[in-house]
Amino acid sequence: MAHRDPNSPVVFGTDEKVSGMLDQHITRHFLNTLQDQSGKVCAEYVWIGGSGADLRCKAKTLSKKPTKVEDLPVWNYDGSSTGQAPGDDSEVYLVPRAMYRDPFRMGDNILVMCDTYEPPRPQKDGTIVPMKPLPTNTRHACAEVMEKAKDQEPWFGIEQEYTLLNPCTKWPLGWPRGGYPAPQGPYYCSVGAGASIGRDIPEVHYRCCLYAGINISGLNGEVLPSQWEYQVGPCTGISMGDQMWMSRFLMYRVAELFNVEVTFDPKPIPGDWNGSGGHVNFSNKDTRVAPTGWDAIQKQCEKLGRRHALHIAAYGEGNERRLTGTHETSSMSDFSWGVANRGCSIRVGRMVPVDKCGYYEDRRPSSNLDPYVVTKLLVETTLLM
Ligand code: ADP
Ligand code: MN
Ligand code: MN
Ligand code: MN
Ligand code: MN
Repeated sequence: MAHRDPNSPVVFGTDEKVSGMLDQHITRHFLNTLQDQSGKVCAEYVWIGGSGADLRCKAKTLSKKPTKVEDLPVWNYDGSSTGQAPGDDSEVYLVPRAMYRDPFRMGDNILVMCDTYEPPRPQKDGTIVPMKPLPTNTRHACAEVMEKAKDQEPWFGIEQEYTLLNPCTKWPLGWPRGGYPAPQGPYYCSVGAGASIGRDIPEVHYRCCLYAGINISGLNGEVLPSQWEYQVGPCTGISMGDQMWMSRFLMYRVAELFNVEVTFDPKPIPGDWNGSGGHVNFSNKDTRVAPTGWDAIQKQCEKLGRRHALHIAAYGEGNERRLTGTHETSSMSDFSWGVANRGCSIRVGRMVPVDKCGYYEDRRPSSNLDPYVVTKLLVETTLLM
């Protein structure tokens, strides 16, 4: 029987050879040949776990293909294993909110973005206390705000930066062991071995998003070697958060196939190396119409300035390591906005004052932003106050 020496250190991560032991030719043989599922459909339920940043998933077999998200059954899981419930009352309810085509299982199989609730509780007097969103359920409040603002038609586009890591050393993919590559400069939007590292992952992820129905708008290599970006948007209201979280799930799944770790940490390598942002581009009905749109944008920027501290506090864990005022970031403590200025909190595109309408970019959120939290705040501050 295998057992661990209690004196040996616990190493979080995987053995370098795990992926080598699993011969993916065998996997592919079965996935390619066994496409007949006897009429059944697999639904992979995906949700946010106890840290508010971890994604969890489990699969459910359905007897027929659902046509809309309301057709999907509410499900549950053991919240004591995700840090979301005590062991003696561990059931957490999973409510399906958005569905996408599954690029891994393909066919009629689907991915389902869910949010999480304490179950309804029957009382002694026969009444039932309705289900309640868990503290880590940030979607619930976001959906309420998006509903209130829906006549104002908020649109978002998020730029998701991330870094690929060697899962054993936790050092960026392709970096010399214990050392550093040549300084930043050649890597951003690069092509060629040594400059563009791990492209297979962003490329496969891109196709997976398109297949799934995620509104992915592009991708590019980033400034730090092994750092990449993709963008999702424009998306309306609550669908921004749903699509962003599902796109991250796809990123983890794709990188898992390559046995590569993905980090959304805002500053994976301290020092003279770029951090990772999650710029949020925003517009609404008013900003998109000329000539009054430019005026609406200026008014919204002023409102954002008045609630800077509140926004900053909710824009990502560890963002203070990234927002230093250097490496194309603004200062954490001071709000600023400007046309075409990448050192500002908010950047308005060069053509906006010319076209007299458009959208603007909130550059403050970090790569590990919770899109439900950030989009909710943007709408509250600019459209509901
Ligand atoms: P950057 O120039 O800052 O690198 P990107 O091209 O990476 O910008 O990302 C811009 C994002 O803005 C994309 O996700 C795009 O879909 C989104 N976007 C475009 N038009 C709008 C709009 N009117 N409102 C909100 N977002 C928009
Ligand atoms: Mn079980
Ligand atoms: Mn970008
Ligand atoms: Mn970028
Ligand atoms: Mn940007």
